[in-house]
Parts: sequence; C-alpha cells; structure tokens
Amino acid sequence: MSACIFCKIIKGDIPSLKLFESDKVFAFLDINPLSRGHALVIPKFHGAKLTDIPDDQLSELLPVVKKIVNATGAENYNVLQNNGKIAHQEVDHVHFHMIPKPNLKEGLSVGWPQQKTDMDKLKELLEEVQAKM
Ligand code: AMP
Ligand code: ZN
Repeated sequence: MSACIFCKIIKGDIPSLKLFESDKVFAFLDINPLSRGHALVIPKFHGAKLTDIPDDQLSELLPVVKKIVNATGAENYNVLQNNGKIAHQEVDHVHFHMIPKPNLKEGLSVGWPQQKTDMDKLKELLEEVQAKM
C-alpha cells in the first residue's frame, strides 16, 4: 500500500528508530511514546486489521514483542493491538504496541467498564460464536 506510513517505514522511505527486522517482521520505537521503551511490532504484509493478516505472518509477531520486552527489561507492561477508529486505531497497518508500565503515571491507562454477569446472555453468545469457529 503506497500511501501507508508503516509500509513506507518498512521500505525505508520514512526514517524510523528500528529495533528489529526479519523476513516478515519489522519493529521500531513509537515516535510519541507513552513510556520509555514504547515499541511497535508490525508485519511486513500490509493489512489494516488483525483478520487481514495471514497466519504465517501473524505468528511471527509475538515472539518479537517478547524479545523487545526482554531487551528493555520491562517488568510491567501492556501489549496492545487496536483495530478500527473507535477502538483507537490511528494507523491502518496492523501493529502491536509494547508499552512498559514503569509506574502508575506513565504507560497505558486502561478504562475497563465491566458489565454485570448475565449467564443467559453469555451462554447464548457462546453458542453463536462456537458455531462459527
Ligand atoms: P494506534 O493508535 O494503535 O494506531 O497507534 C499508532 C501509533 O503509531 C501511535 O502510538 C503513534 O505515535 C505511532 N506512530 C505514528 N507515526 C509514527 C512514526 N512515523 N514513527 C513511529 N511511530 C509512529
Ligand atoms: Zn502498510
């Protein structure tokens, strides 16, 4: 995708602070970090959402996230992958954030608006989803 900023980073047309590169994966520092060590891990295959990426590309991403966690020495961290505008996705090329959480102020803040347990609704949903898997 010629207009995609992350495809341009992979090609080297836009500079990045590269941490890692392999045949299928590219990783670099986020330019507006939420904390020290905030990194992005992306497939070289262009796709906007998780479901657009072939499994053989997808399966190589988390081991690289793990490598970066170990290399930065982060003890507390969030791994985040946003899909779609209202889910806070700004760049339409799949990316995993690795965001160290060194203290309560820096890093990711998460809203977690839990709903009450409704076993009937949960069981209905379970059947519906299981039938399509
Ligand atoms: P998201 O909201 O999940 O789409 O996150 C996109 C992330 O990409 C943000 O955290 C941005 O700071 C980061 N970002 C955008 N452009 C660049 C760039 N040129 N280099 C590094 N990170 C970038
Ligand atoms: Zn792209």
